Amino acid sequence: MAILFISDSDSPAEWLKELQELSPNIDFRVWPNLGNTDDIETALVWKAPPGALANLPNLSLIQSLGAGIDHIFSDPQLPTGVPIARLVDKELTRQMVEYSVLAVLNRHRRAETLREAASEHRWHVVPSTPLEQSRIGVLGLGEIGLSIAQTLASLGFIVQGWSRSPKTITKIKCYQGLGGLETMLSATDILICALPLTRATNAILSTNTLSLLPRNSYVVNLARGEHLVEEDLLTLINKGHLAGAFLDVFEKEPLPQNHPFWDHPNITVTPHLAGLTIAASAADQVVENIRLVGTGKPPLHQVDPRQGY
Ligand code: NDP
Repeated sequence: MAILFISDSDSPAEWLKELQELSPNIDFRVWPNLGNTDDIETALVWKAPPGALANLPNLSLIQSLGAGIDHIFSDPQLPTGVPIARLVDKELTRQMVEYSVLAVLNRHRRAETLREAASEHRWHVVPSTPLEQSRIGVLGLGEIGLSIAQTLASLGFIVQGWSRSPKTITKIKCYQGLGGLETMLSATDILICALPLTRATNAILSTNTLSLLPRNSYVVNLARGEHLVEEDLLTLINKGHLAGAFLDVFEKEPLPQNHPFWDHPNITVTPHLAGLTIAASAADQVVENIRLVGTGKPPLHQVDPRQGY
């Protein structure tokens, strides 16, 4: 039984070390050095080249190295019928929550105004924004979105959330469906996108939806670049409808050198680092999934190809 590791950003040495601690005799192969493909039963992947998983006759588990699996479903030669699992990791979720708090407080405490005043050596007191003017709307109430919503609620923010299925969550007003989305957006001052990227959520943040936000609202995207129509956001900010944005993910990554977001005074750009997978935290889940699949059981956090998440 061999594991094939394919990633354009994670360290194979780090993963091998963590996996070996849990499973000393592991046969670990790093793309493109496949060896005998008959041995490969598990693929551990992040942005594998298209077709990389197509000719592995005994593949029985495709394990994402991250919470998202859009990078797997985008492969036109993805083998069918092989279970696909995503990572649900408390350290990853913690980082995503931390990033959201950073972005929300950046807007809520008007950090950009303070930085501008400080750069001009101006002693400019900006009081904290009333909580009623920093109403939060979280798109996606899954592992990450729910933790973000609950943490912000625990800080005293008025929090609402949107998901596909109906939910009842203490202190969080929950919405579903297009009508629910429109209602939530109209009462949101800081919108946080924590959705998976699927056919249904691609380009969900466009003029149609973003213009439903009240004037001076703020957008945080830490999910996927393709959720946001970047030109629409820019137009709404430049027209003064939106106050700004805090963005971790982009249509094209790395964000091109000449992209207008870089120098925009109301847009904060970070290089897709809101939540990074830490092998030491996530390796046990991978080992457990290999064990489960080996005994004929479904892996933890298996995704549904019909829903795309
Ligand atoms: P989950 O699958 O746990 O949660 C997804 C949530 O989105 C669920 O609440 C789901 O609704 C909701 N949802 C899905 N489709 C729709 C839809 N069409 N309409 C309304 N709601 C919908 O995912 P996670 O919380 O673990 O992760 C979310 C995303 O965060 C990942 O897919 C990934 O892309 C991104 N991410 C980004 C990182 C970064 O560094 N920037 C790091 C980690 C993740 P329901 O509850 O009804 O199923």
